[in-house]
Amino acid sequence: MSREDVVELLYIVAFSLFITGLHMLRGPRTAVRGNQIAAVGMAIAVVATLLQRQVGDWILIVVGVAIGTAVGVPAARSVKMTAMPQMVALFNGVGGGAVALISIVEFRASGGDLALRSLIPILFAAIIGSISFWGSNIAFLKLQEVMRRGIRTPKAINAGLLLIAVALAVIIAAGSDSELLFWLILVSAGALGVLAVVPIGGADMPVVISTLNAFTGLSAAAAGIALQNTALIVAGMLVGASGSILTKQMAEAMNRSIGNVFFAGVGAGGAAALAAPAGGGTARSTSAADVAIQLSYARLVVVVPGYGMAVAQAQRAVADLATELEKRGVEVLFAIHPVAGRMPGHMNVLLAEADVPYEKLKEMDDINGEFARTDVALIIGANDVTNPAARTVPDSPIYGMPILDVDKSSSVIVLKRSMNSGFAGIDNPLFYDPKTAMLFGDAKASVSDIVGEVQAL
Ligand code: NDP
Repeated sequence: MSREDVVELLYIVAFSLFITGLHMLRGPRTAVRGNQIAAVGMAIAVVATLLQRQVGDWILIVVGVAIGTAVGVPAARSVKMTAMPQMVALFNGVGGGAVALISIVEFRASGGDLALRSLIPILFAAIIGSISFWGSNIAFLKLQEVMRRGIRTPKAINAGLLLIAVALAVIIAAGSDSELLFWLILVSAGALGVLAVVPIGGADMPVVISTLNAFTGLSAAAAGIALQNTALIVAGMLVGASGSILTKQMAEAMNRSIGNVFFAGVGAGGAAALAAPAGGGTARSTSAADVAIQLSYARLVVVVPGYGMAVAQAQRAVADLATELEKRGVEVLFAIHPVAGRMPGHMNVLLAEADVPYEKLKEMDDINGEFARTDVALIIGANDVTNPAARTVPDSPIYGMPILDVDKSSSVIVLKRSMNSGFAGIDNPLFYDPKTAMLFGDAKASVSDIVGEVQAL
């Protein structure tokens, strides 16, 4: 067996492990093992790459792996669970940036004199990798809430930047070997990445994040084609395909089209959308004791978890409350909005960790019909996903986003610390609805108090 055969064999083993790992990421119980299996696959792919190279090249690769490990391992270990989405955005950006760098090196090394079958993937990788790098870094700043309010960019600029990048790529593909043109491609694609993500807020952010994720995968696959590296092609396509499926699902759930998100300036939110109360009036506050009585005498309670449950790490207390209420004959269901929290599946993961049975978690389309017969909608640190402005305020950054119809239930209790807004930065008229009562405080402390009060009844 030649060295090439061994390398190809190792690559096949590596991407079999990637696929097995990905398959296991479907459920929280198998996800950790799946991640470990995929990591073993990546280690095998690195070994296969080393085998392809002269021993002299190893030093650079080993130094690169050592630096990546020294930065990545402590960062991943120390990151708080609530900061995980930002971390994923950064890692995604690093992937896109690496691909853009590969494209630069390949183009420069060849002096632009490349066969089209290598040149086209390199140009593709340069454009998409650069968009992904810059866009992901802006997404990081937004998720970190360093950059909050959206700045509107004229609609035509993004489309113009894309056209420029593609036109320059066509000129190079047609025979120009100008390095300057290649740098201009990177600059215009990078500017598109920044300008496309800067105005994004509210309902469009999850769509953007999954799109950038798909972009990184597709650009890596293109780099793999240029480098004729099977493992990079397969790994890139797996990320690209799963990211594209997620993008489609997120866009459908949010009632957005990708074109709208990136080129129509939707989601930017005008001043009117960011202005104060649509509902007017004052919010009514309540106590844990009153909430306990209301819940204990209800027939159906629907729990609506949101980002605040993740911040407070209240999922176990919430699961205990559900068990306590069920002991008293109350039916308890959980309403899961597709973008509740800060990453896809955020609430499912937290509630699975607290052993809430899967059949009690109801997706938005399944639960919305149930609110009319719900006695109490108990909102745990959710805000935007319950905001009726999504139905009624056309200028709102969440306008058109389907929401959980909690306002159709007989009464609503909202657990949060203050009247502050959620991720979209807009007020929520639900809080001023006469049937809504606010229980202010950290969600974990509030839920624990309610559990104590229910037990004492
Ligand atoms: P929101 O961000 O709308 O609201 C969360 C609420 O939790 C805040 O209003 C906050 O109010 C409250 N909160 C924070 N900490 C605590 C705490 N310790 N105890 C109690 N409450 C707390 O969250 P939603 O889940 O309703 O909506 C998700 C938003 O994030 C959407 O706008 C979505 O588009 C966006 N998004 C989602 C992504 C995804 O993939 N899921 C990715 C990126 C963005 P207070 O400060 O008063 O306590």
